[in-house]
Amino acid sequence: MTAATTLETAAVAFPFDNSFARELPGFYVARPPTPVRAPRLLFLNEPLADELRLNLASLAVATKAAIFAGNIVPAGAQPLAQAYAGHQFGGFVPQLGDGRALLLGEIVDRHGRRRDIAFKGSGRTVFARGGDGKAAVGPMLREALVSESMHALGIATTRALAVAATGEDVQRETVLPGAVLTRVAASHLRVGTFQFYAARGEIDLLRRLALYTIARHDPDLRDAGQPFLGLLRNVVARQAALIAQWMNVGFIHGVMNTDNMTISGETIDYGPCAFLEAYDPATVFSSIDQRGRYAFGNQPPVAAWNLARFAETLLPLLSDNVDEAVALATEAVSAFSAQFEEHRLRGLRAKLGLRRAGPDDAALAFDWLALLHDQRVDFTLGWRRLADAASGNEAPLRALFADPRALDPWLARWRANDADPQAMRMANPFVIARNHRVEEALAAASDHADLAPFERLLAAVKQPYLESAAQAPFAEPAPAALTACYRTFCGT
Ligand code: AMP
Ligand code: MG
Repeated sequence: MTAATTLETAAVAFPFDNSFARELPGFYVARPPTPVRAPRLLFLNEPLADELRLNLASLAVATKAAIFAGNIVPAGAQPLAQAYAGHQFGGFVPQLGDGRALLLGEIVDRHGRRRDIAFKGSGRTVFARGGDGKAAVGPMLREALVSESMHALGIATTRALAVAATGEDVQRETVLPGAVLTRVAASHLRVGTFQFYAARGEIDLLRRLALYTIARHDPDLRDAGQPFLGLLRNVVARQAALIAQWMNVGFIHGVMNTDNMTISGETIDYGPCAFLEAYDPATVFSSIDQRGRYAFGNQPPVAAWNLARFAETLLPLLSDNVDEAVALATEAVSAFSAQFEEHRLRGLRAKLGLRRAGPDDAALAFDWLALLHDQRVDFTLGWRRLADAASGNEAPLRALFADPRALDPWLARWRANDADPQAMRMANPFVIARNHRVEEALAAASDHADLAPFERLLAAVKQPYLESAAQAPFAEPAPAALTACYRTFCGT
């Protein structure tokens, strides 16, 4: 096959409106997706397609597969690779960019929200460096599973619209089946996007980027004084809210490089991510995170560090006076930790079923976490069984503790609050995308082309608060020995 065709475009017109391509020429390199040998649709997110006003129902299955593998480029798409830089594990890389991703364009959805539609794994771009531009079935289905789980948990995240198998081999440590993911995001603007221009000293381009970002994500700032300071403050606020949610659900991102931190406040880049099982803030699953930089408990300070890097890029826009710019930026970034604590405590209060805020809530919450830590209790089930205890059924909770008597003094304190069990069941999920279940589903899909476990797990994680017999197998933690040697890899 040669270049991707625009045949059938009339049938597959998407309602694109591409502000990035239109308003920021010079910020990207246009290029079409690389056609693949044998497209086959593995996953299509129909509710999301509907939100995006995509009329896919009338299309043949083969046409849908061809679209989401990149063989048919829908009318109105303007595929392009975005430039960005980033701090990877603390070291600055001045040029990363979309090595294997392409922004197809933007669609304003049914709710009036502008959203990026982008491919991942659609071939090499000028930013590919040594990479092959491809992606494998397992990691792309992982992104779909974990991001849908996060979405169902009410956490801001990019979404997966589709995963199409390519029918081609991808060479990793072993030969793997290839795939293309279609990702939907509020935008793909990252801290690293700003770093790319700031590091080059391209102040005019940086200003244009910042103005575009403000128009897109923070339009209320356009007429305010100090719009760039406002942008910085809003990004800090969004990340404080996001990281608090990660911490309250036991999510470990695994690779919080600045190129993987969005300006929109959405979780992005599901590579080596995983959920905690036994509660321990030092938990690291990623094989490449040898020093635990992105350990569970390190996520808040790492986010603050990343935000400081973002603030640095904005210094020339904040004030002509360097000292004043630094003072403004420092103040904005240092607001992170109090905001984060506030969001986290609000979430913990809900998880504890507290009906009103009180001065001892933080101590109550952190003493509970210390108990979970001491006894290596499964984070998700520990909270969920606390909700049962609120309804008078304490036995399932006690069964999670090696020494249940250690619970008694804490339970007595908590009971004085008359916790609301119904509210607790809406704040404490029963089903998350457990690591061993995810691996099992991906192995079946990747090794045996069997999508049934993926589909069952996806259905389960989409109803995280539902406790039923059908949900129960997905709520069980992995055997501790398995979790102890569980390793994740950068999603390739
Ligand atoms: P990530 O680890 O996914 O955040 O990606 C870091 C950088 O490596 C980005 O610039 C990616 O575009 C690039 N990259 C990752 N995998 C590949 C690949 N297989 N081919 C080309 N570029 C890649
Ligand atoms: Mg990335």
